[in-house]
Parts: sequence; structure tokens; C-alpha cells
Amino acid sequence: MKKKYDYLIVGAGLFGAVFANEMFQKGKSCLVIEKRDHIGGNIYTQNMNGINVHLYGAHIFHTNNLKIWNYIQQFAEFNRYTNSPVAKYKNELYNLPFNMNTFSKMWGISTPDEAKKIIEAQKKEIEGVPQNLEEQAISLVGRDIYEKLVKGYTEKQWGKSATELPAFIIKRLPVRFVYDNNYFNDKYQGIPIGGYTQIVEKMLKGIEVKLGVDYFSDKEKWDELAEKKVFTGMIDQFYDYCYGELEYRSLKFETEQLNVENYQGNAVVNYTEYDIPYTRIIEHKHFEFMCQSDNRCDHTIITKEYPADWNRGDEPYYPVNDEKNTKIYERYKELSMRESNVIFGGRLGMYKYFDMHNVIEEALKCAEREIEKE
Ligand SMILES: Cc1cc2nc3c(=O)[nH]c(=O)nc-3n(C[C@H](O)[C@H](O)[C@H](O)COP(=O)(O)OP(=O)(O)OC[C@H]3O[C@@H](n4cnc5c(N)ncnc54)[C@H](O)[C@@H]3O)c2cc1C
Repeated sequence: MKKKYDYLIVGAGLFGAVFANEMFQKGKSCLVIEKRDHIGGNIYTQNMNGINVHLYGAHIFHTNNLKIWNYIQQFAEFNRYTNSPVAKYKNELYNLPFNMNTFSKMWGISTPDEAKKIIEAQKKEIEGVPQNLEEQAISLVGRDIYEKLVKGYTEKQWGKSATELPAFIIKRLPVRFVYDNNYFNDKYQGIPIGGYTQIVEKMLKGIEVKLGVDYFSDKEKWDELAEKKVFTGMIDQFYDYCYGELEYRSLKFETEQLNVENYQGNAVVNYTEYDIPYTRIIEHKHFEFMCQSDNRCDHTIITKEYPADWNRGDEPYYPVNDEKNTKIYERYKELSMRESNVIFGGRLGMYKYFDMHNVIEEALKCAEREIEKE
């Protein structure tokens, strides 16, 4: 007998929502279940006292793919926000990514030639192939930038000393010999005016969604309801950790309202000193130019982002794609390939650090494959 739904979608994050939207439009019946009490996964934004707050960390949409850029704009109008974070080390402020503004502040120089000479001279201390993150960073940007802007930040982020971390983590560090503080190289970039939640709301319009439901709390019941399943949770948990746990990094967010109009003058300020326990402070109103426009307000909302170890039950924000975990993941992936009725998607289902545009691309491809199978 045919089951009630064509698809059970576990997780109302971006992957689940894009997939559900595509299949719903093709006349398929979908049920989405989500363990949190809201839709959107980590791109969820909440309007708090007139400010759209990115509750799970700063999210800036960027892509080089015009198809994806056109796709996302069906669901929201985007502003011209350009990510240009600032790094704070002790009381010194530096522009990111590393560019002529950074070098000029660091060394009091003004031309690309001068900056290149200093970096070349400092790189020389690393001979041969870099053996760890510290050596890799110095071989890319020299010791001064490494000490002030990379070391403490990275050690807090990963909870390990830079000499214990593998070099591949920072295979590339954006270094530019121009005065340009735009963090991303992508052609298209912006923030949805009014926040991200509206996007997922529109994607899920007309689709049945149950919030506050953990798939694992009654797996059999949910499985019986649908012909096929799309799983966007942790793949190792799906298989009951039979090959062991995959590693993740977690985060803790501390959000507060302050009675000042403008706290730090920028949406993102990175704190690169090891002794300050958080890595960044986000001031949300700057994502929507609220100090430069008509919608001014005399308060602000900031979020401090603290890196944290992940233990079972914590939110798994970042997969740790090192050699050891990749090997474990490959074994889970092999199991997943044998499934005929389960699709694994998204950051946790595919154990990959995906940005939003990657997730959309993957979900669209996945929906296309499903439609082609018919
Ligand atoms: C701090 C941070 C900053 C980021 N910044 C950017 C950025 O600036 N730009 C960018 O493009 N990308 C950014 N990203 C990445 C972006 O968040 C992801 O690409 C995107 O949210 C992934 O969507 P997803 O659906 O795969 O996963 P998720 O958003 O994690 O959604 C998965 C959903 O499944 C639910 N779920 C899991 N297990 C179960 C279960 N057992 N039962 C029911 N529900 C379950 C979860 O609660 C979650 O809602 C950032 C990520 C983080 C963590």
C-alpha cells in the first residue's frame, strides 16, 4: 500500500527546505520534521526589538553562480552588504581579509612592493614543506600577521595549539596587495532585507511541517509515513555511531541588547587575542545598514561567539574534515550508498562544511535526480 507521503524530510534547514520546495512544486507530498522549535536551521534569524538577529552566527550570502543568485532572490530582496570584518588585537584594529590596509597599519608602509618585501623576508624562517598550521601561516603571511591576527584566533577556534593543528586547515589565506576590504571574491553578495527566516518560510509554504520533533525519538513511526526519506541530521547518528563518532566543533552564542545606538561600527569584529574567550562580536543592525538609514533605533543587539568542544547532545556546527574523520565518514557514506529510500543531504548529512550557496546547489541537484528517476 502506498504510504501517506512521498517524502519525509528530516530537518527544516536550508537543504530540507529547498528540496521540499522543489518536490512540492512537482506535485509530491512532503512532511518536514524539525527537532528545534523553529524552521531555518542555522540560517534562522529572529526579529528582536526591530533588529534581525542572526541567532546562529553571522550569515552573509555570497556566490559566483548566477543561477543560485537568481534562485535565492525569488524568496527575498537582498541588500548590497559587503562582508568586511575588522580584527581587534589588544587595542589595535586591522582590516580583513589581509590586504594593503592591514599591511599599512601593521608596518606603516603604503605600496604593494613594500608589503611583499616584508612578507617575503618573514616567510624565510620556514624551510621546506610546512608541517603544521603555524608553519603554514608563517609561510603565507609572515610572522607578524601570524602572531597578531592568526594564532590566537585559530587556537581558540579549534581548541588546539597551532603547532598541533594540521597545515591544510589554512591551505589558503586570502592575501591581497590592493586596498580592498571585501572579504569574498564572489560576484554576488548580500543580506536578505528582513532576515533569512522569511526565505525558508516561503520555501515551505503549503508544506506540512512539524516542529519540536526529533526523528530518533520515534524513528519507526516516521519511517512508516513516507516512501522516501531525506535526512539532513548527523550521518553518524543515523547509523547509531556504528563506525564511531565523527568529530564536530560547537559554538556558544551570547546575545544581549545594549542601550547604545552603535556599539562597534561594524557587523563583524574578530577578537584575535587568545585571552579573550570569544572569537567574534556580531552587531546585527549593521547587516541592514541601520545606522545609515531611516530605520535607526537607539539600541543595538550584539552576539558574542564562543568556540566550544562538541560532545554528544551539543549542536554540531562545524564538521572537522581532517584525515581521520574523512576516513570514518567514507565508511558511513558507503553504507548510505546502499540505501534505496534514504537521501543524505546538507552540512551534517554529507559531513561537509557547506556555505549556503553550496547547500542550495546540492539540494537542487538532488531534487533534479529524484525527478529524473520518475
Ligand atoms: C557560525 C556559522 C556561520 C556561517 N556563516 C555563513 C555565511 O556567512 N555564509 C554562508 O553561505 N554560510 C554560512 N554558514 C553555513 C550555513 O549555515 C549552512 O550552509 C546552512 O545553514 C546549512 O544548511 P543545512 O540544511 O545543511 O543544515 P542546518 O542548518 O544545520 O539544518 C539541519 C536541520 O536539521 C535539524 N535536525 C538535525 N537532526 C535532526 C533530527 N534527528 N530530527 C529532526 N531534525 C533534525 C536541525 O535542527 C537543523 O534545523 C555558517 C554556518 C555557521 C555554523
